[in-house]
Formats: sequence, C-alpha cells, structure tokens
Amino acid sequence: MGRLQKILIPFLGLVLAFWFYSARDTFKPEMLRGKRVIVTGASTGIGEQMAYHLARMGSHVLLTARTEAKLQHVVQRCLELGAASARFVSGTMEDTAFAQHVVREAQTSLGGLDMLILNHVGASYFGFFDGDVEHVRKLLEINFLSYVAMATSALPMLKESEGSIVVVSSMAGKVGFPFTVPYSATKFALDGFFSSLRQEFAIQSINVSITLCILGFIDTERAVRAAAEVLRERPAPRDECALEILKGAALRRRELYYRYSSTRLPLLLRDCAAELLDYLVRSRYR
Ligand code: NAP
Repeated sequence: MGRLQKILIPFLGLVLAFWFYSARDTFKPEMLRGKRVIVTGASTGIGEQMAYHLARMGSHVLLTARTEAKLQHVVQRCLELGAASARFVSGTMEDTAFAQHVVREAQTSLGGLDMLILNHVGASYFGFFDGDVEHVRKLLEINFLSYVAMATSALPMLKESEGSIVVVSSMAGKVGFPFTVPYSATKFALDGFFSSLRQEFAIQSINVSITLCILGFIDTERAVRAAAEVLRERPAPRDECALEILKGAALRRRELYYRYSSTRLPLLLRDCAAELLDYLVRSRYR
C-alpha cells in the first residue's frame, strides 16, 4: 500500500499539472468574440484570411491596406461571415501620419482596441542586393516604422483593455536569407524593437502581450509569384497560417512558429551550428 501511494501520488500530481497547463493553453473561438481588432495588410494574403477568421469568431474588425476596392470586398465578406462589425480605412503605411490615423479610427469607431495585428508588407525585389539604399529606407518605413508608430499610438487603448500586439514576421527575420536583404533587415528590426519592448512591459507590469510570428513559406499570391520557382519547399496554406496566428495571439504567446517543422526546428541550430543552418537555408533554393 505504502509503495502504491509513493507511485500514485506523484503520478496524480503529473496528471494534474499536465491538465492545468494544457487547459491553460486551449484556444477557443469565443476568446475573440466581441474583441475589437485592427488588421493591417488585410486586402489580400494572410491578412485577408485573418479578417475572415475573426469575422467567423464574431470580432469587430477594422481593416487597412492601400487598395480600397479590395478592402470593400473583404469588409462585405466579413459581414456575411458574422463579424460583429467590419469597416476599413485605406492609405499607405509609407506615411507615419496615416498609421496613427488608423489607430485613432479604432478609438472613434470602436471606442477602444483589444488587438493590434501588424501584418502589412511593402513590395521589394527577389534577387541579390542591388545597393539601392533608398529602397531599404522606404521598406524600413513601411515594414518597420509604421509598426512602431501604430503600436505606440495604440498603447494607451491596449493598456486599458489589457490587449495584445501581434507582429507578423518571418524566418528571414531570425536568420539571414539570401535574395531578400532589405526585407530581412526590416524583419530583424521588428524582432529587436518588439522583443525589447516586451521586456520593458514585464518590468513595468504592463499587461499587453506581444506575439512575434515567425512564418515560413506561405501560399499567398505575392510569395508564390516571387519564390515558388526558386524554392524547393511547398508553401503552407494561408488560411491555416492565419488561424494559427490568431490562436497564438489569443493565448498571448511570446512567439508563434508556423509551420513548426520548417521554422522552429531549423532555428534550434542557430546557436550551436550557425554555419550548418546557413547552409541549410541556402540549400532551400534551386
Ligand atoms: P501580401 O499578400 O503581399 O499582402 C500584403 C498586404 O500589405 C496587402 O494587403 C497589401 O495591400 C498591404 N500593403 C502593401 N504595401 C502597403 C503599403 N505601402 N501600405 C499599406 N499596406 C500595404 O503579403 P502576405 O504574403 O500575406 O504577407 C503577410 C505578412 O506575412 C507579411 O508581414 C510578410 O512579411 C509575412 N510573411 C509572409 C510569408 C509568405 O511566404 N507569404 C512568409 C513569411 C512572412 P495593398 O497592396 O492593397 O496596399
């Protein structure tokens, strides 16, 4: 009996601990019902799919990108899918004032904000670095500075709601990638800024989560057009990717890897076998 107890009690403890941690980690669509969410880069690709998932879950969505006609279509579809409300603001993220204007729109039309999803990405080229410094500056403005501006403007609302910031990044923002030098630079910058900000939030007990999303190759039109011919791997589906981002955000994860096998696993090599990882990255290209 004594021996049985010695085995049974730790075993029960383990089962309870497992139950506690897995229950904590379970995503439920209701978590996003009624939440007020901004999605940038929502006219197409992963952003568009996130808007549709949020709509099905009953969130209020405020969408933005440059192309008004596409945004109108996405908003209409969101309303059909069950969004609590759906609206858009069109404009370019090259302009920091526009980035701040989108956040003000959330204050005016939604009365606050629960989640800021920073996802848009400016056009760049796929090829060897061409030495165009102005292009790097412009891409930093779109892919990095506007993210900083929006997060900064949204912080008072997010503090009030104890909300979340979601930053959509890439494997190219964790390890050097060839042929996308300006793009990679902007994604590394996001990691530096938002990971440091997360530390400061912890020090100041600010209950706003920051989820950095590290994505591999996803089957959006832009990515497939740019890289399908030269990459050896098959792209992952954008609707599944969008859902995984939202799950990670709702669970207030620090980082989200999609797909795990082509992002998190290779990155385990970064500290112990960096040259091997560099080689593996290069060998992805034909
Ligand atoms: P996408 O299909 O090209 O969509 C980009 C979005 O950004 C569009 O809605 C576009 O709309 C908007 N946008 C572009 N330039 C803009 C500007 N100057 N101002 C405001 N909005 C602008 O991109 P995606 O493939 O879905 O990528 C979404 C995110 O995932 C990006 O952050 C990307 O880096 C990341 N990611 C993607 C992949 C992939 O393989 N697809 C891999 C890793 C990471 P308008 O043209 O209408 O403005």
